[in-house]
Amino acid sequence: MDAEHMGADLENILFTEEQIQQRLAELAQEVWADYEGEHDKLLLVGVLKGAVLVMADFMRALPGSAPVDFLAVSSYGSGTKSSGVVRILKDLDTDISGRHVLIVEDIIDSGLTLNWIRTNLESRGPASVEICTLLRKPEAAKVHVETKYVGFDIPPAFVVGYGLDYDEQYRNLRVIGTLAEHVYS
Ligand code: IMP
Repeated sequence: MDAEHMGADLENILFTEEQIQQRLAELAQEVWADYEGEHDKLLLVGVLKGAVLVMADFMRALPGSAPVDFLAVSSYGSGTKSSGVVRILKDLDTDISGRHVLIVEDIIDSGLTLNWIRTNLESRGPASVEICTLLRKPEAAKVHVETKYVGFDIPPAFVVGYGLDYDEQYRNLRVIGTLAEHVYS
């Protein structure tokens, strides 16, 4: 789905496909260099469903092989806000003890969801847990989440596209943009 297919529902394009790919390629190089000598212990963990597109492009941009696993959580909240109360809907298939876990995320908003996920994964005895997120909204943070790799910091508006949804819509939009307020108000 392209921006023009959104009509008046899309307010503004924040990042084009090219900008997203370029930044993911940079992050992939940086990550690979940081795990030098430890690549065999690296495990990429994606959080469904939003991170699917980021993961698909990020993992292909890595200059070597790395296994991948997915976690699905539901974050209790209403509309466009999360509450930090999290339930695991689909757990990892992989035993992560001794592994270098890299959580690959689409967006950190309040940070509540990822903070919970990180604490949960850290309790399973991994060698390390780090976070790579394509987007982060620093002004919306409710808890500090140590995030080693950040694609772009953005203002606290609601964004859709490239895996990010509003009510399960727009995940298949190629660009990332702000949703017009009339859609959710
Ligand atoms: P947090 O717990 O507030 O950091 O929110 C985490 C989750 O809320 C993300 O993984 C997204 O699924 C969703 N989310 C937060 N902000 C946005 C947004 O701007 N657009 C779409 N989904 C969002």
